[in-house]
Amino acid sequence: MRGQRSSDVEHHPTEKQLLRFLSGETTRTENRTIVTHLLKECPACQRVIQGAWQPEIPESAYDEALGSFETSRRRRFPTLLSAGT
Ligand SMILES: [Zn+2]
Repeated sequence: MRGQRSSDVEHHPTEKQLLRFLSGETTRTENRTIVTHLLKECPACQRVIQGAWQPEIPESAYDEALGSFETSRRRRFPTLLSAGT
């Protein structure tokens, strides 16, 4: 018995920090802290993550985004080829 279990989850990342983490705005150090915390399966923070992770985006919007991504790739590709030769 070491009595150290209660200190496992002592510091929660703020909701703001979690949101920044999801959008990739956190620093590497922050990422590490947050990931470590989430790996402890903290229910409170997982709830925040899940709420933010599934934004209400209609599937059609997703298709459109992917479609335009494909289009821009196709447009760029021949340009790169002709510039290289
Ligand atoms: Zn937490």
